[in-house]
Amino acid sequence: MAGYLDELDVTMVEEGFTMKDLMESLLKEASQRGSQEAFFVADLGDVVKKHLRLLKALPRVKPFYAPKCNCSKGVVQMLAGLGVGFGCANKPELALAKSAGVPPNRIICTGPCKQISQIKYAASQGVQLMTFDNEVELGKVARNHPSARMILSLATDESRSSGHPTMRFGATLKSCRHLLETAKDMNVEVVGVSFHIRSGCTDPQIFTQSIADAHLVFKMGAELGYKMCLLGIGGGFPGAEETRGRFEETTTVVNSALDLHFPEGCGVEIIAELGRYYVDSAFTFAVNVVAKKEVPLDQLGSDEEDPRRKKSFVYHLNDGVYGSFSSVIFNNTCPVPVLHKKLSPDPPLYSSSLWGPTTDGLDRIAESMELPELHIGDWLIFETMGANTRTASSSLSGAQPARIYYAMSRVAWEAVQFLQGKLLLPPEEEDRESTCAPLSCGWEITDTLCVAPVFAPASIILPAPPAFSALKWELFFSPQRGVVFKYAT
Ligand SMILES: *Cc1c(COP(=O)(O)O)cnc(C)c1O
Repeated sequence: MAGYLDELDVTMVEEGFTMKDLMESLLKEASQRGSQEAFFVADLGDVVKKHLRLLKALPRVKPFYAPKCNCSKGVVQMLAGLGVGFGCANKPELALAKSAGVPPNRIICTGPCKQISQIKYAASQGVQLMTFDNEVELGKVARNHPSARMILSLATDESRSSGHPTMRFGATLKSCRHLLETAKDMNVEVVGVSFHIRSGCTDPQIFTQSIADAHLVFKMGAELGYKMCLLGIGGGFPGAEETRGRFEETTTVVNSALDLHFPEGCGVEIIAELGRYYVDSAFTFAVNVVAKKEVPLDQLGSDEEDPRRKKSFVYHLNDGVYGSFSSVIFNNTCPVPVLHKKLSPDPPLYSSSLWGPTTDGLDRIAESMELPELHIGDWLIFETMGANTRTASSSLSGAQPARIYYAMSRVAWEAVQFLQGKLLLPPEEEDRESTCAPLSCGWEITDTLCVAPVFAPASIILPAPPAFSALKWELFFSPQRGVVFKYAT
């Protein structure tokens, strides 16, 4: 694990140089090479920033990452290296977490309908935590993974959440008692309750309701003799920079609901399994216009008078919804491009639609956009492209997944090293009383994460860091320095 980022090619972005500058120079380089290949720039420092923001905003919550949201190597390795747990929905994701060095006690097998071979694989890898929401799953686990520690997945009231009206997962409150009794009969251990609020939910009060519901299930469990010790609160935290206000509103709501129903010292460990939050804003995508059709508007049956609006354009880009724009299908997103080339002031705008490279009718990225006229070879830049853009690639797109250029600022890199305990503390800090107490469910990290700054002053950089192991951090609170991370040997 030590030096896990070393195997990745990560550009260190020095002070005074931004991610925008990096994109600019990559585009210049591409045009010099005559390359039109679409590519991502991934700011791993942004992922680190999100992690720190989360630790600060939800001090009692242990983060897990859902790699189904973005399984790129840089993100997976970075989050594994930061000690984040993983919620894996299938065997390839389990294998991915394992290869990134995530210990089995920090992996949850989350798929709602697990193939038996996947349950067996989890068992063989020592992964015990698994979610379930029905009796059949319990039976499969009882037969194939008797030492599993199950988490009952609870349905949420998602009527207020946007997105596709897809299938509902999670057990209803009504069915929980029966499920808990059935688990007892089958000798399956149930250790907690989780719920998942889909991204796109804009009303944070849904968390209040879900935490209250989970509390009821804990009470039910206690009546039946269970000692449940784990609560999972989603899913569903927004990741775009513009949604930061909503993130903060949500975490405030979550903290007060937790204080009400699961107060500190109640012996319940709280986890959150996040996807979009960690990655959405970190990825920027550059894609090329590869085909263009002019469509006269009268052909579309319009009686538009403005001569500028007599035509519209259909453009094909070299990546689409079967590749990097799969979030259009998964999340109903409407990606909005930034045009890279310089334009004359006030260029005429035309109704334009953007399509992927296939001839498939679903491969529509965006429609009815007012854009200046584009030309073959023009670059379009899409920001906030980290969530569900590196997942459902299909051979239909006829292309390899777009290349990712990883980058991070030196400050962020130093924060990572500090978080990993590679930078040791001066001796007087090490004497400080530890607030570390081993928690239930396999975590040994303290719960005293409260305040920044977490950046180490350069003067305390010491040589010979011990090999990194995420499970061995201790966290201290120092009145002078805020949260202090120390490597516990
Ligand atoms: C996908 C998923 C998540 C992560 O959801 P985001 O909204 O991307 O944070 C969490 N929990 C479960 C069960 C999931 O399937």
